[in-house]
Amino acid sequence: MVLANTYHLYLRPGADLIARMGGLHRFMGWERAILTDSGGFQVFSLRDLREVDDEGVTFRSHLDGSQHRFTPELVMEVQERLGSDVAMVLDQCIEPFDYDRSAAAARRTHLWAERCLGARTRSDQALFGIVQGGIHEDLRIESARVLTSMGFDGYAIGGLSVGESKQDTHRILDCVVPILPADKPRYLMGVGTPDDLLEGVARGIDIFDSVLPTRLARNGALFTFGGRLNLRNAINKDDPGPIQDGCACYTCQSFSRAYLRHLLVSNEILGLSLNTIHNLHFLLELMRNIRLSVLAGEFPAFKRTFLRRYSGQHADASWAHRPEGRAKSLGGRAGG
Ligand SMILES: [Zn+2]
Repeated sequence: MVLANTYHLYLRPGADLIARMGGLHRFMGWERAILTDSGGFQVFSLRDLREVDDEGVTFRSHLDGSQHRFTPELVMEVQERLGSDVAMVLDQCIEPFDYDRSAAAARRTHLWAERCLGARTRSDQALFGIVQGGIHEDLRIESARVLTSMGFDGYAIGGLSVGESKQDTHRILDCVVPILPADKPRYLMGVGTPDDLLEGVARGIDIFDSVLPTRLARNGALFTFGGRLNLRNAINKDDPGPIQDGCACYTCQSFSRAYLRHLLVSNEILGLSLNTIHNLHFLLELMRNIRLSVLAGEFPAFKRTFLRRYSGQHADASWAHRPEGRAKSLGGRAGG
């Protein structure tokens, strides 16, 4: 599933143009599922550029400073025109620590969720509610109860992964997830490292999204079973092997670490695409294997094994364990 940002598409090129081009799927040549966020997260991260009240949120475009207003009704209309498969309700996302502010934002999020439900006109587009409430268990539990009583097609947990500790994230998931219906998708927003995916699945999460895998890739940080590989490190300069032995992605099947490092340090844009292909493939493959291990009843063992290898390498930036780790994965490789 591809996530498309309503805020960015609303400002440029605009939902009308995309609708005239036949909707998002046709516009960008993607025949599989698309989820659009409501734009709330981007608007609320504008900080000085926005003003919020119970009716909606007024903000200035980061592109040209022009003034705009998002209401629950408008973001539904925009998402329907974009034609995504899954739309999200407008929510108020704030920093999660202050209790009173979290309570007020959750209350407003519930009002807006109700209005989004009332404003939807497409029956071929799923609509997900978003649980808010900061790092406060009672607020989160109440938010989950209120939203599930409204009857959405799926439920997201928002407002996490915004600066709180991992312990807080896990504590909130532990109290929210059991309240969400088991037969509807549960979506943890803004989470995307391999270890966070495993911890999320362990707590009952089905869907994740994050800019991390693509952003890391563009910076030359690549996922391997032994942890994160920093392509810039000199050790990769004359390494003829792939990023990850045994990886079936186009990048690993075709190019060496030495070449990819050369592209990166030369600021050659092809490198950004090739690195991105690998990181996305790695995460999709990880999720595929997680699903298989869940079906086989072996998820806890899978998680333990993966994390042991992944964190072992992660702690050692010098890559002293690399040859051993690689030999283990494929029984060595020619010229490696
Ligand atoms: Zn690869």
